[in-house]
Formats: sequence, C-alpha cells, structure tokens
Amino acid sequence: MNPARSALLWVSNNEALRRALPRYAFIRRAVRRFMPGEELEDALGAAVELRSKSVNVILTHLGENITQAEEAGHVRDHYLEALPRIKERGLDAYLSVKLTQLGLDLSEEFCLENLRSIIERASQFKNMVWIDMEQSGYLDRTLSVFRKAREGSSNIGVCLQAYLYRTEKDLRSLLPLDPAIRLVKGAYAEPSSVAFPRKADVDANYATLADILLENAVSRRTLAGIATHDPSLIRRARLKASELGLSNQAFEYQLLFGIRTEEQLRLAADGYRVRALISYGSFWFPWYVRRLAERPANVSFVLRSLFAR
Ligand SMILES: Cc1cc2nc3c(=O)[nH]c(=O)nc-3n(C[C@H](O)[C@H](O)[C@H](O)COP(=O)(O)OP(=O)(O)OC[C@H]3O[C@@H](n4cnc5c(N)ncnc54)[C@H](O)[C@@H]3O)c2cc1C
Repeated sequence: MNPARSALLWVSNNEALRRALPRYAFIRRAVRRFMPGEELEDALGAAVELRSKSVNVILTHLGENITQAEEAGHVRDHYLEALPRIKERGLDAYLSVKLTQLGLDLSEEFCLENLRSIIERASQFKNMVWIDMEQSGYLDRTLSVFRKAREGSSNIGVCLQAYLYRTEKDLRSLLPLDPAIRLVKGAYAEPSSVAFPRKADVDANYATLADILLENAVSRRTLAGIATHDPSLIRRARLKASELGLSNQAFEYQLLFGIRTEEQLRLAADGYRVRALISYGSFWFPWYVRRLAERPANVSFVLRSLFAR
C-alpha cells in the first residue's frame, strides 16, 4: 500500500489525534469540502440543491464503534426522526448506516433490532436503507445481519468492497436474494492476507464484480450501485450496461458529496441515475481522514486551508 495512504489510515484510527485535531479551525474549514455541515438540516439543504440538478442523495450520520447501548439507541432514533423530515422536503434521499453505530460490537441481535426499526420506518416512507461495509473483521457479522434483515424487507442494500479477495464469492452467494448491492473499492487499512495490496488488482476486481452485478440486473431484480469516482470504471459500467441493453434506471452511480461534482452533474444530465452520499454529524474525524487517504494530494488542500480566511 502507498506509504502516505498507510500513514493517513493510521491517523484515522488514532484516538488522541481524533480528539485533538478537530479543534483546529483550519481542519474544520477543510472538511467542509466533503461535508455541507454537522447537522441533518445542512445535509437536507445540500440535498435540495442537488435535486435541482437531478442528483439524488444518500444521507449518513457519521459515527462508528459505539460502546454503549444507549448511544446506539440515539443513533436509531436520529434516523427514525430523519425520515419524516426527508419526506417533508419531498426528497429522494436514502439512508446509509454503519452497523457498529447501531451496536454491532455489543451484540448482533441488538444491532439487528435497531436496524429493523429503521428499515420498517423507512418502508412506511417508501425509503431505503443501505448498510455500509466496515473493516474486514465485521464482514461476516454484517452479511449475517443483512441476510436476516433482507428476509422480511426489500428496502435494504449492502456495500461490498472490491479490495477483498473473498468478495466475488460473497457477491455470488448474495445474488439469489435479489439484493441491492453498492460496490466500492474499500476504504480501510487491510492486511495483504485478506485484501489485494496493489491498486491495479483492486481496480481489475472492481471491473469483474461490476460486470457480475450488471449482468444480473438483466434478469434479476437486483439494484447495482456503482459507487466509485474512477472515470475508467464509470465509463466501463456505462458501456457494459449499454451492451447488455440495461435501461439507465436499472443501476445507479453513487459518489461522495464534494468529489468529482462535475462528473456527477454530467452523468445526471446524460440521464443516468446518480446519488451523492452526504455525510453529516460531529464525529467526522476518522471518516474525513479516510477521504484524505484515498487521495493523499488532498492533504495539500488541508494545508492551504491553514492560510485561508
Ligand atoms: C457512495 C459511496 C459509498 C461508500 N461506502 C463505503 C463503505 O461502506 N465502505 C468502504 O469501505 N468504503 C466506502 N466508500 C469508499 C470507497 O471504498 C473508496 O475508498 C472511495 O470511493 C475511493 O475510491 P474510488 O472508487 O473513487 O477510486 P480511486 O481510484 O480511489 O479514485 C478515483 C479518482 O476519484 C477521485 N477521488 C477518489 N477519492 C477522492 C477523494 N477522497 N478526494 C478527491 N478525489 C477523490 C480522484 O480523482 C481519483 O483519481 C464509499 C464510496 C462511495 C462513493
């Protein structure tokens, strides 16, 4: 792995830096590039603006690895309250949750119960809930929770990471469920025993997995979320979909708020379904440093913010 990426991923997990660095105003200024604000209202405002450009959104309240059942309850209640506010604004805005934020470290059953409450409420609002994928140590439990939640509900999707060797097997085992799958490259520091260390291999695996997803979208009721900013993979998915005769509505491009915005607008203008994932909340430090690690050149942007007014 690129040493700058490794160093930044180390920083993202460092408790002392997580507490210290967000206090600096220049860091808080820099994070605004990827996050419209800490409150749900900030995210809803950005969603309204994007909707006028035909880009829909996915909303995620930042947080991970909670250690108290009460905290997980607060997160669940926050999402339950967000759903009517999304509806009031007439937005097409899915939710995306991290299972460790809903208590996965405490117990799988407890986490599933919290997730089910959100899915049930989302279904009343004709909305959908995505499960983020976290470090590989959570993968089996995340898929187990997804499978159980999927049994009674169709408004749920899960993220799979192309950097893991096992993902093709996982994907094929999920296909009989007609799942909604968001395919990403993967954002965490993983050892070479479980993940491709070379970026070229991750990219090649992404292409293979995207083909499988799109091919399945022809005959099954799967929803393929092509979640990448990589121009060659975006183009490739577009060509593959057209070769398969898939309508532009059979899959969607998903990108992060503030990254390659021009591309998001171009795809939407060309008639593709596009969603921007908007993050908000006060616990943004580890998430933000993972964004820096994806493109270490972003660090120079942070340093420039040091001198900005
Ligand atoms: C909608 C969505 C949901 C996600 N959910 C998860 C998840 O649940 N679990 C998980 O592990 N990962 C998740 N990710 C992150 C993902 O794993 C990658 O780390 C991230 O998308 C960068 O990879 P890439 O596919 O864009 O390709 P890359 O090869 O990293 O980037 C391709 C190009 O995109 C641009 N770019 C990419 N990242 C940045 C950035 N941070 N800043 C500026 N430009 C950038 C650059 O131009 C770069 O050359 C998600 C990503 C998206 C878009």
